[in-house]
Amino acid sequence: MDSKEAAGSPEGLRTIIIGAGMAGLLAAIKLKERGETDFTIYEKGDSVGGTWRENTYPGLSCDTPAHAYSYSFALNPDWSAVYAPGPEIKAYFEGVARRYDLYPAIRFNSEIESAEWHGDKWHIRTKDGQSDSAHVLIAATGVLHHPSLPDIPGLSDFEGACFHSARWDHSVPLDGKRIGVIGTGSTGVQIVSALAKRAARLVHFQRSPQWIMPCPDTRYSEADKQAFREDAENIWQVRNGPEAAARRARFTNAIIDIDSPELAEIQQIVERNLEESVRDPALKQKLTPNYRAACKRMIFSPNYYRSVQEPAVYLENQPIERIEAKGVRMADGTLHELDVLALATGFKVDQFVRPIKIRGQGGLDLDTFWQAGPRAYYAVTVPNFPNMLLFNGPTGPVGNFSLIDIAEHQWRYFDQLIDLVRAGKCKAFAPSEAALVDYEARRNERAKKTVFASGCHSWYLDKNGVPQVWPWSWDHFTEVMSAPKIEDYVLA
Ligand code: NAP
Repeated sequence: MDSKEAAGSPEGLRTIIIGAGMAGLLAAIKLKERGETDFTIYEKGDSVGGTWRENTYPGLSCDTPAHAYSYSFALNPDWSAVYAPGPEIKAYFEGVARRYDLYPAIRFNSEIESAEWHGDKWHIRTKDGQSDSAHVLIAATGVLHHPSLPDIPGLSDFEGACFHSARWDHSVPLDGKRIGVIGTGSTGVQIVSALAKRAARLVHFQRSPQWIMPCPDTRYSEADKQAFREDAENIWQVRNGPEAAARRARFTNAIIDIDSPELAEIQQIVERNLEESVRDPALKQKLTPNYRAACKRMIFSPNYYRSVQEPAVYLENQPIERIEAKGVRMADGTLHELDVLALATGFKVDQFVRPIKIRGQGGLDLDTFWQAGPRAYYAVTVPNFPNMLLFNGPTGPVGNFSLIDIAEHQWRYFDQLIDLVRAGKCKAFAPSEAALVDYEARRNERAKKTVFASGCHSWYLDKNGVPQVWPWSWDHFTEVMSAPKIEDYVLA
């Protein structure tokens, strides 16, 4: 441990943060705000930004309004658009890391491979042989992190360029090429929208159609930015004003109550969007999902329907038979010859802090504890894994909320737990197994009633088809995160 760092913490409390993405930077800033400088961020990559470092695909943007997808304490009047492009978001995180002088605390290219609880501290080892220890371990490792490759036969036979959307190969030319994109999630839709006018031919392979929520492609003018600069209240209006609050309430109610007028309204909007945007009845038919709006994560797009009607674009909805040297063979025998194949096929979402080998109390392996599936008390803490805090852990809120907002609420909760150690009330805290069992029982029952369980396949569902998500209202989430129920914790 760096003795200079250790000397900086008034309470002698040391923290290890895993990951220098959005949540890791947040934890570091909040620790510094408290005057605690004895922490290190271990980052396996060579720069900050997490998902915004890993995803660089054409058309990458954030479909949550940028002013809402910013830290509450680092508002940015200079966002170029309502839905900011990916590189701008990455630059925002780099700027925040500089402004809060976090770089000296980050160890880049340092992938943690194990973390073990030794009774009073976590001991970590990195793949390149570094070791360290700390009282608190904060996993800020993200959720959509480990690419999921499709199990389509012949994938490795393809002679052209083939890569996952989160591993985009920028050395591969795209203009005037024959490009295939597999996947119709938020990623596939953004890629197709960006390439529709660049490719000689673009085939969008659709296993399931998606409902598309229309949204304006609004760029902020200099005058807009000036207004944001002059009065931060204008930014707060975008984040939390009546319109934003109504949108969040509408969305929350739609998710948790499938009979709600809010879901009916969302359904009407997406149906009207399809009806008014797509001319050809056959294409319209192909694009019509057989499940309810918001069952899968809602896709916001200003231009997907326009893009898919570009002359060079073909929407293929037959099942894929196999991938061959020259392209993709469909079940009906058609071969789509391609130069480039992009796999927008999503992520392995049950990993969370893994593949780091985590051993908690008594050497208990997290893999063993999570054998039946990842579980965390209120999505943030795990019995038998003391002083381990998970940002956006299993069963956290998903959908179209700002993950930054979610992480800030989670931090408030973490900070109060860490306070117990700071104040000498305990050396270690972990939720009781009974508390987790009770939480999971209530959550499971409620989750089955959400729109996510209303008859579609998505990454929200566990292997039993139950949504692994927050099934209650946004207000309930903020209320629960406002103060931990200490009686649900085992303090040692
Ligand atoms: P995803 O939502 O999991 O979508 C994966 C797509 O690949 C689906 O269309 C899926 O089809 C298809 N697929 C998977 N395996 C396939 C196979 N063997 N054959 C054919 N199709 C296959 O992944 P994603 O689009 O990368 O998005 C993941 C999440 O990232 C989003 O839900 C969102 O949370 C986040 N994201 C956010 C933004 C943003 O703007 N904020 C942008 C991009 C991503 P099925 O639907 O039939 O399963």
